[in-house]
Amino acid sequence: MNTIITTSEYWNCECIKQYIHHKNDTQCKKCEMSRYESPDSHVNEVIGELGVIPDPRQTSAFFPVQE
Ligand SMILES: [Zn+2]
Repeated sequence: MNTIITTSEYWNCECIKQYIHHKNDTQCKKCEMSRYESPDSHVNEVIGELGVIPDPRQTSAFFPVQE
């Protein structure tokens, strides 16, 4: 069983590249997705794409994912 941790510090828009946005960014200028209709980013994606470690206090509880 796998686990995914998400962070409310970042969210994902629908772009193929550079789809991770900080929460202070309320809308993507390219695909026009809004933060409020987008899912939180996965912590491992934020680390992999941006090279920053999200604040652990703003990460979600663990939840199981079926593959
Ligand atoms: Zn976008």
